[in-house]
Amino acid sequence: MKKLSERDKKHLWHPLTQHKLQPEMLGITKAKGCVLYDENGREYIDGISSWYTCMYGHCNDYILDSVKSQMSVLDQVVFSGFTHLPAVELSEALIKMLPENQQKIFFSDNGSTATEIGIKMALQYHFNKGNKRNVLLAFEEGFHGDTFGAMSVSGLSVYNGPFEEYFINVERIAVPDADNIGEILTYLNKRLEKKDIAGFIYEPLVQGAAAMKMHSAEGLDKILALLQSHDVLNIADEVMTGFGKTGKDFASDYIATKPDIICLSKALTAGLMPMAVTSCTQMVYDAFYSDELAKGLFHGHTYTANPLACTAALAGIQLLHTQEMQNNIARIIKSHQDFEKEIKKHPRVAATRQCGIIFAMDLNTQMERYGSLRDRMFKHFMDNGVFLRPLGNTIYILAPYIITEEQLLRIYSTIETCLDIV
Ligand SMILES: *Cc1c(COP(=O)(O)O)cnc(C)c1O
Repeated sequence: MKKLSERDKKHLWHPLTQHKLQPEMLGITKAKGCVLYDENGREYIDGISSWYTCMYGHCNDYILDSVKSQMSVLDQVVFSGFTHLPAVELSEALIKMLPENQQKIFFSDNGSTATEIGIKMALQYHFNKGNKRNVLLAFEEGFHGDTFGAMSVSGLSVYNGPFEEYFINVERIAVPDADNIGEILTYLNKRLEKKDIAGFIYEPLVQGAAAMKMHSAEGLDKILALLQSHDVLNIADEVMTGFGKTGKDFASDYIATKPDIICLSKALTAGLMPMAVTSCTQMVYDAFYSDELAKGLFHGHTYTANPLACTAALAGIQLLHTQEMQNNIARIIKSHQDFEKEIKKHPRVAATRQCGIIFAMDLNTQMERYGSLRDRMFKHFMDNGVFLRPLGNTIYILAPYIITEEQLLRIYSTIETCLDIV
């Protein structure tokens, strides 16, 4: 039998990949807890939770058992005109844990559709009210997904060349810090006079794709409060930050001004299946509630609120709220703090930062986002049994909550030895 990595080449086209430059894919045969197993018999600690999804560990028995029993009861049903228990229960669980102003849950399939729907909600909210508002506001270097609306609001546009002329109308502001916040607010105060901004989409506290850039809650809160007082809908993209990663259930829990719309995916279903949520306030929902059919939100996906995905999500939320998982989160935060104190003294380390269980460090080398140093670092990690995916010269850790202290130390020491090769 030929290896997976060989058979893969014949018909598969991978995401975010230039196949001529990267022809080799690694065949993964199994995953359990924090460990990935490849077809060559090697093991890797999943230091990025397979893109921030499987926070309670791969193939978590509690989640698997919940989904297995749901599977023999109701697998899939149309969600227009019908409803079902997993969706109802999940909506109740989410509303209970989301910021208190959130009242309605709209399901879709992935992070990009979650933000796409958030954008459509904001635009149609104003349309339905007869406001002419067709501009969206977003942060520089934000990332919100790869469908057209999501791509339009994303600031990391290096790869968007062929599509840019089809984008929706977006204006950008800088991410706030202590130095520029005054300037941003002055600019916005003036800019808001035109009354044409429908919504503001932002990744609260941590911008994942921008190499885990972090900002403080205070500056962001000032921006959100100002926008809200001018009837701009604030759309929190918590696709990455949601479900405990910042140390609280949501990054928005650190911020006084609550968003009008929240986008969730990734850890929502604990890594088991794709699903997303766009939640909103009663005020947003009410702008669509009408005797007129066309005022409704005519957006839908075939697999909306798939019962198995809802069940996985419910089980994940139950796990997140156990004392054991909360203790794990606190333990990882503490371990990262200890590691940070040590590693930031290293001459190769330019900066370190941490938000909850997310830890990132920049190396003081100049390089391309996907240049050769990045590839060498990646190889070093994999050779040492650790799956980390550096972004440019930033190394970050976002491991499952169930990672052991021993596995964490293994990640730290592999990062240390990595600094010797850069
Ligand atoms: C990953 C991500 C998305 C896109 O989600 P997909 O499921 O990959 O489409 C959107 N926003 C943020 C903040 C993300 O991290």
